[in-house]
Amino acid sequence: MVITLRPEATPEQIHGVEARLRDLGFQVVRAPSPGPIVLAAVGEGTLPALAEMRAMPGVAEARSIPEPFKLASRSFRNETSVLKIGDVSIGGPEVILMAGPCTIESEEQMVRTAAAVRQAGARVLRGGAFKPRTSPYSFQGLGEEGLKLIRRVADANGLLVISEIMDKSQLGLMERYVDILQVGARNMQNFSLLRELGKTQKAVMVKRGLSATVDEWLMSAEYVISGGNDRVIVCERGIRAYETYTRNTLDLNAVAVAKSLSHLPVIVDPSHAVGVREKVVPLARAAVAVGADGLLIEVHYDPERAICDGQQSLYPEQLMGLAKQLRQIADAVGRTF
Ligand code: PEP
Ligand code: MN
Repeated sequence: MVITLRPEATPEQIHGVEARLRDLGFQVVRAPSPGPIVLAAVGEGTLPALAEMRAMPGVAEARSIPEPFKLASRSFRNETSVLKIGDVSIGGPEVILMAGPCTIESEEQMVRTAAAVRQAGARVLRGGAFKPRTSPYSFQGLGEEGLKLIRRVADANGLLVISEIMDKSQLGLMERYVDILQVGARNMQNFSLLRELGKTQKAVMVKRGLSATVDEWLMSAEYVISGGNDRVIVCERGIRAYETYTRNTLDLNAVAVAKSLSHLPVIVDPSHAVGVREKVVPLARAAVAVGADGLLIEVHYDPERAICDGQQSLYPEQLMGLAKQLRQIADAVGRTF
């Protein structure tokens, strides 16, 4: 249920409404909006008649939230959430480019790749220090050494850092180095991790699981928000279908659907979606045209030698070419780049 208070509601009236909702067993969350106070009553409480809430002093309006993802829904908060991190706003008019290698490998790799990423107009440097690999024998990431490296190189280039957190035990460490904590596709329903991420103030980007429905994906975001952290982004990264020419299938339907159901910024990762270098750029263009708030793209100064995902990593020149096209596409859909 979402309750909008009258602009002239007194603190006592607001307290009265909140107390009544808590008595009924609900968790009460305030929408961070500049206008009148909006409350969401979520959880397993006994649903009072909406009429009872409407009749309470100070209440302008009360209505139910039909979606299961209450706090992530547009029924709760109609305007797209804008996440401010430093001078970067995710979810605003600017299409945000996040780019970098799949995994952090070495100083030379990070320095050379980050320079290309910055030149292309990206705002966020990506790179995994903890890698969720299908095989236990594959490279697992540089850990803290990698985090130190990406932070230093990002700072030198005026970029933010996004990196994947695989386990809740890594949170304290990652908070020291990272601006956006990425939850990988394989961890989308790691509920104890999602709950822990509700307790941090860092931005969290939840990638869609390989076979997750839009509802399941947004429910994972809901875990983080209901835990107390509303700085959440979601990312479509392709789902597993029957096609074998490409690694996964980029679900642009889901981007359009998530944008209409949820106020959370939606990022698209065409690299993991298609898995083939030549197809990344056209899919990135399509993602921005369909309304994505940003892109997450793998790029490497020497993809042939990349330890991980070289086959889908762009050459720096390809990223530059995409950046030029993005300017026009963003303009055509009322955004900037
Ligand atoms: C990644 O972005 O490095 C990654 C492993 O992606 P995903 O979780 O989508 O497979
Ligand atoms: Mn990768």
